[in-house]
Amino acid sequence: MSSPSENMPVTVSVPRSKPLLLRHLPYFIGAAALVALAATMQFDGYILNILMQATTFAIAVFGLSVVLGLCGQINLAQAAFFGFGAYAVGIGTSDYHISYWFCLLAGCLMALVAGAVLGMSTLRLGGHYLAMVTISFQQIVTLVMINAIWLTHGPDGVPRIGRPDLFQSSQSYLAFCVGMLALVGYFVWHLPDTRLGRAMRAVRDNELAAGVVGIDVFRTKVYAFALCAVLGGLAGGLFAGGFAYVSPDQFSFAESIVFLTMSLLGGVASPIGSAIGTGLLILIPEWLRFLKSVPGLYLAIYGLSVILIIRFMPDGIWGFVAAAFERWRAQLKTPPAAAALQLKPATVGGDIVLEVTGLSKYFGGLKAVDGVDIAVKRGGVHALIGPNGSGKTTTLNVLSGLYKATAGKILLDGTDITTMPPHQRTAAGLGRTFQNIRLFRSMTALENVEIGAERPGNKMIGEGGDAALTERAMEALTFVGLGGRANELISGFSYGHQRLIEIARALAANPTLLLLDEPAAGLNSTEKLELHELLKRIAAQGLTILIIDHDMTLVSEAAQHITVLNFGRRIADGESMAVLRHPDVVSAYLGSE
Ligand code: ADP
Ligand code: MG
Repeated sequence: MSSPSENMPVTVSVPRSKPLLLRHLPYFIGAAALVALAATMQFDGYILNILMQATTFAIAVFGLSVVLGLCGQINLAQAAFFGFGAYAVGIGTSDYHISYWFCLLAGCLMALVAGAVLGMSTLRLGGHYLAMVTISFQQIVTLVMINAIWLTHGPDGVPRIGRPDLFQSSQSYLAFCVGMLALVGYFVWHLPDTRLGRAMRAVRDNELAAGVVGIDVFRTKVYAFALCAVLGGLAGGLFAGGFAYVSPDQFSFAESIVFLTMSLLGGVASPIGSAIGTGLLILIPEWLRFLKSVPGLYLAIYGLSVILIIRFMPDGIWGFVAAAFERWRAQLKTPPAAAALQLKPATVGGDIVLEVTGLSKYFGGLKAVDGVDIAVKRGGVHALIGPNGSGKTTTLNVLSGLYKATAGKILLDGTDITTMPPHQRTAAGLGRTFQNIRLFRSMTALENVEIGAERPGNKMIGEGGDAALTERAMEALTFVGLGGRANELISGFSYGHQRLIEIARALAANPTLLLLDEPAAGLNSTEKLELHELLKRIAAQGLTILIIDHDMTLVSEAAQHITVLNFGRRIADGESMAVLRHPDVVSAYLGSE
C-alpha cells in the first residue's frame, strides 16, 4: 500500500496548461475544413439531403449522449424536443414571416423550458417511471401537432419554411449546419471534463455515492435533461430550414426510438459515437435499398445488423474502439508527482464535533436504531461497535442523510444537519466511506478522487480551478499509497486498493469528520495492518474519525472512545478500555458469536 517515504513533500509539477483555444486549434482547423468542404463540393440533391439529415440528426443525438451517456437518464421524447425547434422555425418563418434567427432561438428556448419542466417534475422518479413519463410527453406533443390545426396545420404539415438570407442555397445552408454541428460537438466533447460533466458521470455510475460526496444529484439530472432538450430543439430548427417542410410523423415516438438507437449503436458515451451511429443508421437503409424489392428482407437485415452490433459491442462501436485505446494509453501515462496531503479540518465549534441525541430509525416495526446518543470529540478516533445487525450501518446512513431519521437530532460543529440532503451534509464537512465499496466504476482513480475534492466549500481548493483539483486529488491518492496508479480505471484495482481509493476520495474533500464503515472488511492481514497505519497517519493530522469495525485489536488500539450498540440501542459508551471490559459488552459479543 504505502510507505512513509511516498508521503514526503515533493515538488508539484502539474503542467501549466496552454490557452484553451491554442490546445484545441487542430479541432477548429478540422471543423473549418469540413465547413469549407460542405460549402464548395458540388453534391447532387440526393447526397445533399442525406448529409443535411445526418448533420441535423447528429446534433439531436448529441443531446442523448449527454443525458443518457453522461448522466444515465433515459429520454424517450427527443423527437418531441426536435419538433419544438422544427415547428418554431417552420410556423414562425412560413406563417408569420419572422426572422429565421429569432425563430431558431425561440425553438431552442421552448425546448429548454419544456425539458427543464419535464425534468424537474419527473427526475426524482427512477428509471421505468422516467421512461414512461417521457413517452407520455412525446405522445402529447404528437397529438398537439396533429390536432391543433389552427397553429400547426395538422397532418398537412408546414410548407415553405424559410432560411436565413445568408444561407439561401442548400449548399451554403448545409455548410452552416456542419458548422453548428462542429460547435455543439466541441461543447459535448469537452463536457465530461468539466465540473458539471464529472458530476453527471458520477450520478450515472453511482447515484448514492454521488450524493454523499457532495453532488446535488437532482439538479445535475435536470441540467442534463434540459441540455439534451435544447440540443434537440436546435437540431429540429436546423432540420426545418434544411428541408423547408415539416409534418407531425417526423417527430413521432418512432423517431425518438430512432434517435435512441443511433446513440446506442455508435456509443452513447461520446459524441463521436453519436456521430457514427447517426451516420450508420441513415446510411444502412440506403445501402440496403437494392433489397427493397423483396418485402420483409430489407427490414430483417436492417434489424439484425443493429441487434448484432449492440449485442457484441454493448458500449457501441466507438465505445468498443475507445476502450481498447484507453487501455493502451493508461499504460503510457505517468501521473504527476504530488505534495504531501494536508488535512486541515475546520476548527470552529467546540470540543464536540458531532453531537447525536435520541437518534432513531425505524423500518416499519423494526427499530434498527433506537434513541441513540453519541458525542464525538474533536481530533480523536471514536469507534462504533456492536454485533451484526445492531444498527451501526443504519446509524451511519442516517448521519450521512441516506435515510431520514425517525426521531432525534444531529449537530455537526453546532450546525443542525438532521434534515439536510446528503450533498449538503458533505458540504458542511461530513465525509464517509461505505461498507460495500461505492466508487464510480467507469472512471479512473484520479477522477474518482477529484470528485471528492470538488466538495463545495473545500478550502483546500478555494478558487483554484481544475489544476488545483487534480493536485489535491493526487495528494490524497499519494497519501493512501496509490499515486503511481492514478490514471488506471477502478476495475483494475484489487478490493483492498478500492477501499483506499474510497478513503482518498473522502480525504480529498478535507472533511471535518470522517465516517468509516468497516474499512477493514474484506482485507487480508497485511492490508489490515497497512490500513491501521493509514488511520494513524490520518488521526495524527487532527482529523476526527468515527469508525465502525469488527476487529477488536484495531478498535482497541486506534480508538480512544467507544460506543456500543445492541439491537439498535446504546448499551455502553466511554473510554475504550473501560467499555471493552463492560459486562454487557462482553455478553453481547459472547452471546452473538
Ligand atoms: P449493522 O451495520 O450493525 O450490522 P444494520 O444497520 O445494517 O446493522 O442493520 C440493522 C437492522 O436494520 C438489521 O436488522 C437490518 O436487517 C435492518 N435494516 C437495515 N437496513 C434496512 C432497510 N433499508 N430496510 C429494512 N431493514 C433494514
Ligand atoms: Mg453494517
